[in-house]
Amino acid sequence: MEFSTEKLDFECRELAEFLIHETGQQEGKLDVDNILQYLGLTSLQFSFDRELPIEKNTRALLSYPDKIIAVEENLKPERKRFSFLHEVGHYVLPNHQSSYLCDDKGLSAFSHLTHEKEANEFAAELLFMGNQFLLQINSLPINAKTVKKLADQYYASFESTARRLAEKNSRPCMFIRFNRNQTAQIELSGEDIWSAQYSIPSSIFKQKYGREFKGIVPCGIVNQLIRSSQDITDSIVTQEFVNTVSGRSEMSFEYFYNQYNILAFLIPK
Ligand SMILES: [Zn+2]
Repeated sequence: MEFSTEKLDFECRELAEFLIHETGQQEGKLDVDNILQYLGLTSLQFSFDRELPIEKNTRALLSYPDKIIAVEENLKPERKRFSFLHEVGHYVLPNHQSSYLCDDKGLSAFSHLTHEKEANEFAAELLFMGNQFLLQINSLPINAKTVKKLADQYYASFESTARRLAEKNSRPCMFIRFNRNQTAQIELSGEDIWSAQYSIPSSIFKQKYGREFKGIVPCGIVNQLIRSSQDITDSIVTQEFVNTVSGRSEMSFEYFYNQYNILAFLIPK
């Protein structure tokens, strides 16, 4: 299992580097149309709800024999780019290479389906220009300001940029996404609870402290962030003691808000 994951990583990276090189893209952000053209793929955009009402939550598809990729027209531009590249992944990755219909969950960071995870990893490799991103991040601070700068540079969403900044970092750090708890009950003075939905550690953080964060955003921070955050760089930094696999450690939390979710970086002191 471990071996095949490493092998897959290699294939994703190699294939992405190959396409970046072959299409003459060396600096700045990736030109998606250039990749589609090189592979002879036709791109379409339409409303899946209107055209394919039976398939719920479909966001993108690849019709392999027709060499057509279609993406939901109502997505934000950054998500459209990612979705096109995800379908390119299904087109080029070994053992994929057939037709796919991909929904919101498959295109999310927490999909458990092997082919969806592989296509997502490939899309991220391309979107962040392979080695270019990896060489760049280790000299930059791990914080919301860096996320904004890199998201602008690569024309990617704040969440996917923050996730990759942590995951590929050579320093110990973790990215966490918090979701607002949905309650079916009616409460007179319900607290606004945001709990960790998923977390992505760098490999050294995973070895030293553990792979998953469990917890909620402190109430005072939720109120302050939601009320006053105009921009993801309006972040809040706190120092906390947390329990980890190697004991109690002091860590710095930086919370920021992308208007959908509360996001955070966790960095050991
Ligand atoms: Zn897919």
